[in-house]
Amino acid sequence: MSNVSGNLFVIAAPSGAGKSSLIKALLDRHDDGSMVVSVSTTTRKPRPGEVNGVHYHFVDEATFLQQVEEGNFYEWAKVFDHYYGTSRTVIEKTLADGIDVFLDIDWQGTRQVKAAYPGVHTIFILPPSTEELERRLRTRGQDSDEVIAKRMAKAHHEMSHYAEFSYLIVNEDFEDSVANLEHIVMCQRMRRSKQQIRHREVLKDLIQE
Ligand code: 5GP
Repeated sequence: MSNVSGNLFVIAAPSGAGKSSLIKALLDRHDDGSMVVSVSTTTRKPRPGEVNGVHYHFVDEATFLQQVEEGNFYEWAKVFDHYYGTSRTVIEKTLADGIDVFLDIDWQGTRQVKAAYPGVHTIFILPPSTEELERRLRTRGQDSDEVIAKRMAKAHHEMSHYAEFSYLIVNEDFEDSVANLEHIVMCQRMRRSKQQIRHREVLKDLIQE
């Protein structure tokens, strides 16, 4: 795949829309190293089961702000109570290696990425209804009504930004949604600008000029 620059995708969603499971299912289908999810840096504390360097790079606030100062982030934002940022060098190097990169970031970061990289493909995942979103949030854990209400308010706020994204997936049926996500990714790979680099020998042979 050398010389073909990878595609950059942003996938955003309110918590409970099923984003992480969709991305995981897509990556499982394409385990040939042709696509990766960028690991963000955050100041929030790890949740049970989260591994440093796998789910996030967990740092303290001083370290995060130092990295901001040094221009290490492609984008960064304060999402509710914590800082989150995307490493600049990892994105640039991975794309240059011809690998597709997914950014799992919020709407604020998406705005910054769109400004810095107009070729980015932005995807927003929605739940099929408020009722279903609440049901999914409730089945996740033992959270109190107050915590659930807060999460729902956050989700409504996040979803109000849907129109800033190019693609929408309403995640009602999981398998349909994975297929739709895969179609979006494959469409970008099939663009002539990418294909003519990837298949230049074939084209040379076919055109015979
Ligand atoms: P969580 O703490 O639940 O993992 O993520 C909270 C929110 O922060 C989610 O909307 C997630 O997409 C967003 N987020 C995670 N990493 C980044 C990042 O690097 N940049 C930005 N702007 N948002 C992020």
